[in-house]
Amino acid sequence: LFFNETYSPLSSDEIIAKEKANMNNKRFQHCVRVSETSRKLAKLNGYDEDKAALAGFVHDYAKQVPIDEYREVIKTQDFDKDLLNWNRAIWHGIVGTYFITRDLKITDPEILQAVWRHTTADTEMTTLDKIVFMADFIEPGRDFPGVDEARKITYEDLDAGVGYQLAHTLEFLIENRNKIYPRTLEAYNVWSVKSK
Ligand code: GDP
Ligand code: FE
Ligand code: FE
Ligand code: FE
Repeated sequence: LFFNETYSPLSSDEIIAKEKANMNNKRFQHCVRVSETSRKLAKLNGYDEDKAALAGFVHDYAKQVPIDEYREVIKTQDFDKDLLNWNRAIWHGIVGTYFITRDLKITDPEILQAVWRHTTADTEMTTLDKIVFMADFIEPGRDFPGVDEARKITYEDLDAGVGYQLAHTLEFLIENRNKIYPRTLEAYNVWSVKSK
């Protein structure tokens, strides 16, 4: 495992060590697989493979940060205070960017935006946003009904993959009577519906 060292004053080894120390091994292995899948999707879509691999690796850096720490950061930093009404599923992308800059010293806006959007997606998505969003969904460790179709669709057409994932996530959230984050719904309306 080695990451391009132009995106942080920290070395590749230091970033890997910090990430390992911030999560359990299961989550760390997921991040490694998302990194590898991001690299693959970057190659297929003509995007910088090294940058995609790093963005994919750090996407869940803050997934296991304690809830109290999140609440403190949302209150004291420049985040929408409505986030206090949500939970770690929503926070770890959006607010996760704060911890990635603080701890891993990554400031590249494209990488941070891809992390920000990796759970909820958005109405507008850059190629890197789509790569990380889809790599998270189809990495080889994922196993849910439809994952093989998701992989096939995504490797053929990244945008179609985004539409597939958002519809799948909305179905899952509604099935379980979960609250829908408005951005997720807005993204679904752009990427998943057949007519606009
Ligand atoms: P992970 O971090 O690798 O597990 O994957 P994600 O970051 O993509 O998703 C984390 C969790 O957020 C998943 O369980 C999703 O179902 C959930 N999630 C995504 N969108 C929404 C939403 O709009 N509302 C709620 N309540 N949960 C969501
Ligand atoms: Fe995540
Ligand atoms: Fe995701
Ligand atoms: Fe993830």
